Amino acid sequence: MRNIRIYTLFLASFWLVACASSSPSVPAGTPCVAASFSVVDSFPGARRGRCDVRGADHVRLTILPEDTGYINPSPWYAFKIVPTQAGRATVTLNYKVGKHRYEPKMSFDGLAWTSIDATQVTISNNEKQASINVMLDTRTVWISAQELITPPIYDRWNNAIAAQYDVQLSQLGLSLRQQPIHVLRSESDSPDVLFLVGRQHPPEVSGAFAFFAFFEALMADTDTANAFRDRFDIVAIPMLNPDGVIGGNWRHNSGGTDLNRDWGPFTQPETQLIRDLLDDMDATGQSIRLFLDFHSTRRNVFYTQDDDNPTRPPRFTRTWLANAKPRVPFYDFANDENPTDKVGVSKNYMYSRYNIPASTYEVGDETDRNAVQRAAAMFADELMKLMLQPDLFE
Ligand SMILES: [Zn+2]
Repeated sequence: MRNIRIYTLFLASFWLVACASSSPSVPAGTPCVAASFSVVDSFPGARRGRCDVRGADHVRLTILPEDTGYINPSPWYAFKIVPTQAGRATVTLNYKVGKHRYEPKMSFDGLAWTSIDATQVTISNNEKQASINVMLDTRTVWISAQELITPPIYDRWNNAIAAQYDVQLSQLGLSLRQQPIHVLRSESDSPDVLFLVGRQHPPEVSGAFAFFAFFEALMADTDTANAFRDRFDIVAIPMLNPDGVIGGNWRHNSGGTDLNRDWGPFTQPETQLIRDLLDDMDATGQSIRLFLDFHSTRRNVFYTQDDDNPTRPPRFTRTWLANAKPRVPFYDFANDENPTDKVGVSKNYMYSRYNIPASTYEVGDETDRNAVQRAAAMFADELMKLMLQPDLFE
């Protein structure tokens, strides 16, 4: 009996040693080295979590959100695979919080992205695990929940817009971690303002594609857009939460706060910039006439005011979206008119402060990006046409 126990103990310790040597576990921020590749998370937007090596060509990542506060189930992941030899790589995403949501995308340069074919992704029945298989050559591969639209990409876009159009680009201020937050303003003398905000929520990249296309349509050299820019000023903040984007956060800024629940309380540096900007605009006689906040969710939907919350002008958003609908047959969307009582949400704050049409422009996580951009341009065109109708915004 005693011998058997010793033998069992010996076996157990043998397996412990064996497992320790063949299955190293490294925390986030440390390269995770398997025999045929490494998994790296040292770039803006990365989120990999703890990494366990399961075999020569297999690692498992523990996917966790940025903090332990209440968090929307937006389980972001992004990492690089650096091969040491060509062949198959399997990365298992192990969700400790939430379930697999975002269809993985891959890139060889961090700029051009393709979806990983669904046949290469195995999702467990409870959706708590997703295993991604890729064939490696010698190139580094980025794998990410969505395309990496990080501050350097915004900088490039902002600078291109400012160079190409009559738009002033300036720094509105700094995030909690001292990252610049930029604002674009059209150079109009009009006191009447269209106000746009983007990227309060880090994973909401499809909304960023809509934001870019929407803004570019406002800048277009068309009769409508030219007339619009004469009549209205445009103030746009493309990315309010750079810290969250850089951190690969699911939801929050670096202060553990959902910025889109902080309009009104204004507890964070990012939302305080909004408060100060609005106060400034009010003080200088500018008048915000319409507000749009770009986001992503599981479907294409606009969250707007209902009849119990009349806007100036009345039923504007309903008319706008109805006008746009026949022009976007390739883009299914809903208009969810809902109460305005949820505290801290940008659209509700802007509605209650100004009684203006204020909408959350939500784009489906996986909506075709080309459709997102084409539709955004149509929505912008129809918005401008309606806002230009005589007497509507007098
Ligand atoms: Zn959002």
